[in-house]
Amino acid sequence: MSIETAWSDRFGDSLMKSMGSPFALLTRGDGCYVWDESGKQYLDFLAGIAVNSLGHAHPAFVEAVSHQSATLAHVSNYFTTSPQLELAERLKRITGAGAEGRVYFGNSGAEANEAAFKLARLNRRGSDRHRILAVHDSFHGRTMGALALTGKPALRDAFEPMPSGVEHIDSTIEALERSIDSSVSALILEPIKGEAGVVELPEGFLVRARELTAQHDVLLILDEIQTGAGRTGSWFAFEQFGIVPDAVTMAKGMGGGFPIGALVTFGWASELFQRGMHGSTFGGNPLATAVANAVLAEIESAGLVHNAAARGEEIMRIIRDIDSPHVAEVRGRGLLIGVGLTRPIAAAVSSAALDAGLIVNAANDSSIRIAPPLIVGDDEVRLFAERFRMALDAVPSA
Ligand SMILES: *Cc1c(COP(=O)(O)O)cnc(C)c1O
Repeated sequence: MSIETAWSDRFGDSLMKSMGSPFALLTRGDGCYVWDESGKQYLDFLAGIAVNSLGHAHPAFVEAVSHQSATLAHVSNYFTTSPQLELAERLKRITGAGAEGRVYFGNSGAEANEAAFKLARLNRRGSDRHRILAVHDSFHGRTMGALALTGKPALRDAFEPMPSGVEHIDSTIEALERSIDSSVSALILEPIKGEAGVVELPEGFLVRARELTAQHDVLLILDEIQTGAGRTGSWFAFEQFGIVPDAVTMAKGMGGGFPIGALVTFGWASELFQRGMHGSTFGGNPLATAVANAVLAEIESAGLVHNAAARGEEIMRIIRDIDSPHVAEVRGRGLLIGVGLTRPIAAAVSSAALDAGLIVNAANDSSIRIAPPLIVGDDEVRLFAERFRMALDAVPSA
């Protein structure tokens, strides 16, 4: 039996059927590169779906995992630790939540959004607020609360009934104006829809959402699980839209590959959770928070937020300059980039990219998502240009 048959059979025999077939068995990574079991090298321009902010095996990540696991890995929530306090203070600073900010730690994006869902339920300001608004085609996670918020019926249908009260509206200013009133507790939005293929909300949408939510005491919760931690060229994408939310959720890039998520509240939203209302055994443990501190400190000291902005521009320009009949448009900010294709051939393009030694992803039938580590430099950008062109050329025109 070849090695390949061996691992794909073992996967099929033992992993839950909810998992799609993996493209390869990877054995190691270094910087922006990973290798599979045959020794083939790939340029990783997906970074574990916007997770590996510092790439693979970065010394700051390795040092933080090693040192903290050799010092104190886990305590219960009956105790606090210095890494936990430091990370909470750091998140208040980089979100701009400031002195009134409060931080809840979980272990994933879905858990951060579950906390946000409970936060929404706690907003009873002035009336019985039984409605939570989200938008069509949004993605907020796979657990029941996060799934109820997710605007993709295909993901929800098998699991009905959902937790009640969530309504999905169109991503239009008219829909906002029609839907927001004092029966709404919260509006949750991705500032840029990542799983939808890196799609922005219409011009002025977030500003109008902020005005209307403030006017009606509705919480504006931003899901920055994919866009946060510097990826879009600012610490958080909301900064680029000139608004301040009442709460923001984050996960993916903040741990650089170590599982961690957080909900940060601003202003009056920090008063909603009371003692005993929420918790997590692993959430905020010293190992996870020490690693997130190291990752975020490295992003800051190495100027990677700026690098994300500059390299993102460069990569988007390169893709726009590729003369391919397949490319319809290039979307995104910083290092979260979507390539809209002229036909539903995203799977063929990502598979041709893999053949060419490049990892990108088919976010949907006709969109390629590109989300490299924030450390990308000249060499990686040049190699990306070469391999992405090769992949596009390998897919036949209609
Ligand atoms: C990935 C993602 C989630 C879910 O995060 P998990 O860690 O997979 O639970 C939620 N919202 C957005 C915007 C995401 O990109």
